Amino acid sequence: MSDPDCIFCKILAGELPARIVDEDERTIAFMDIAPATRGHALVIPRNHTSDLLSIEEEDLQAVAVAAKRLAGRAKDRLGADGVNLLNSCGASAWQTVYHFHVHVIPRYKGDPLRLPWVPGEGDPEQVDDAAQELAGD
Ligand code: AMP
Ligand code: ZN
Repeated sequence: MSDPDCIFCKILAGELPARIVDEDERTIAFMDIAPATRGHALVIPRNHTSDLLSIEEEDLQAVAVAAKRLAGRAKDRLGADGVNLLNSCGASAWQTVYHFHVHVIPRYKGDPLRLPWVPGEGDPEQVDDAAQELAGD
């Protein structure tokens, strides 16, 4: 439920300050301390869980709904032109805080954010190989 060493659990417990912008039974959302763009917020489940692979489905659903709510506010209230939702699962995927969270990042025309990969056609054989391993249960 809660991890005494987790900074997001400390925010939930009121032991660390945070600018809370949304809450419901299962989630809270607060401003990211190092925003990528104006209005960058994080949605977290109240239950401590480290990442995407461990979160319970009900909590994941609640986080997704809250993220959508904030995305709508970013467009309506901040004038965002778009929104990115981002979750990092594991150190290789940039995760630095091990309490599951979704970044809600408002996007503005001409903002400095860039895609973190270079789009280009993949090797069809490799795509097929991966597809075979991923398909099914
Ligand atoms: P990630 O790197 O995807 O695990 O995201 C962690 C995010 O938490 C980063 O964007 C940090 O800027 C943010 N962060 C870390 N500590 C705090 C804090 N005390 N309050 C708000 N955001 C924080
Ligand atoms: Zn936690």
